[in-house]
Amino acid sequence: MNLPIFLINSLSKVKNFDEAAFINIHQSGEQITSIRINPAKQSISTPLRAASVPWSSLGYYLQSRPSFTLDPLFHAGTYYVQEASSMFLEQAVKQTTDTSQPLLVLDLCAAPGGKSTLLQSIISKESLLVSNEVIQSRVNILKENIIKWGSSNVVVTNNDPKDFTKLSGLFDIVVIDAPCSGSGLFRRDPEAINEWSEANVQLCSQRQQRIIADAWNCLKEDGVLIYSTCSYSTEEDEELLDWTVQRLKVEGIRLKVEQEWNIDEVQSATGAYGYRFWPYKVKGEGFFIAAFRKKEATDELRMKIKKETVPSKQDIQIAAKWLQSTEDISFILQGQNIAAIPAAWHHTIQFLMQELKVRYAGTELGTIAKNDLLPEHALALSTLINQHIFFVELNEEQALTYLRKNDLHIDASQKGWALARYKGMNLGWMKLLGNRINNYYPKEYRILKAPL
Ligand code: SAM
Repeated sequence: MNLPIFLINSLSKVKNFDEAAFINIHQSGEQITSIRINPAKQSISTPLRAASVPWSSLGYYLQSRPSFTLDPLFHAGTYYVQEASSMFLEQAVKQTTDTSQPLLVLDLCAAPGGKSTLLQSIISKESLLVSNEVIQSRVNILKENIIKWGSSNVVVTNNDPKDFTKLSGLFDIVVIDAPCSGSGLFRRDPEAINEWSEANVQLCSQRQQRIIADAWNCLKEDGVLIYSTCSYSTEEDEELLDWTVQRLKVEGIRLKVEQEWNIDEVQSATGAYGYRFWPYKVKGEGFFIAAFRKKEATDELRMKIKKETVPSKQDIQIAAKWLQSTEDISFILQGQNIAAIPAAWHHTIQFLMQELKVRYAGTELGTIAKNDLLPEHALALSTLINQHIFFVELNEEQALTYLRKNDLHIDASQKGWALARYKGMNLGWMKLLGNRINNYYPKEYRILKAPL
């Protein structure tokens, strides 16, 4: 592995950088696998866990890397495969904000959804997450991961950061997990070394400045801005903190890190605190994170709604039967689809649907046809689903057949909609027709990988 010499030289100015250890860890070939479990879908049998990720309440290291694609529980959303260092976002949120309060949180650079699913697990049920991805082709994977996670207090948008400027003073927390030059992932993905260049670091740094500037106005006064990268370059890390301090009215927040976590606290030239994760010191990849509090008066916009998009009372009644409870839930229409959203956020979500390119909101339940619900895949994966809906428990082989969208052959006396379930976790819908079964697993999510 030939690490870029320019990168190594540029890092020599970072306090406590250990060049030999840095080179060694990249040559070692060591690979670390970690997952974060979904507290909303506690399963008895997620992959065998070796140890906890020290700074995370939900993260675990695995002894080896299994084939996640061939684990039905992965498709059920019981866990997310996430690099351990980036799970530190939990600390940045919990140490800066009272998460027991209802919060409006923006994850501005969200695909494929690692930080968003983490945020969903640590904010309260009364909070709302707006999970945004600017690149259209990456919104689908984000939406898929959000659907699997199963919570309905979320809106997925496909907007440029500058589209958020008009949402003055709306958010309590804005997370910017910025697109970067990616050196922090060299160990995991050596190919990325070939794409690395000094010029790209400069380009990324300018883009990061633009993203922060665009997002600034949508953060409330006293709200928290969390900035992170998976780059080692100071141009994208400490220097970005300086750029922020010099242009915006912020207060850098110092986070508490336990000594045994081996995370390096650094201070930028202007005194802002940042946290560096070196792979030779922590069990994780390269990562950088910092938190600021906004110290600037910001007008809070009044959300005027021009047109409500709500389903008819009759359609709501039909859809509601598929839910365990309708307490604190309200209903909106997304195209033909009825979606369940948190009632407390009804107005905000309707407003966002008017102002942004909303690609998904709450939990899509399905469409009404012939006085019945044609259920959506998202409903099957949702924690809102009625526990009395008929299900068929599949064994591993059957579950994989189902997830490949192949024909299933099982004896079922009942007719109609049924949930395909594996180890107590829902995988999706099927329709039992007496002599055969229609597999409703979404084609775009089906497993293509051959059996081991
Ligand atoms: N937060 C994600 C997670 O934890 O799974 C990873 C985000 S990745 C580091 C950065 C994201 O920013 C990418 O999805 C990329 O498409 C997006 N992005 C690229 N250019 C952007 C821009 N100009 N503004 C905002 N986001 C951008």
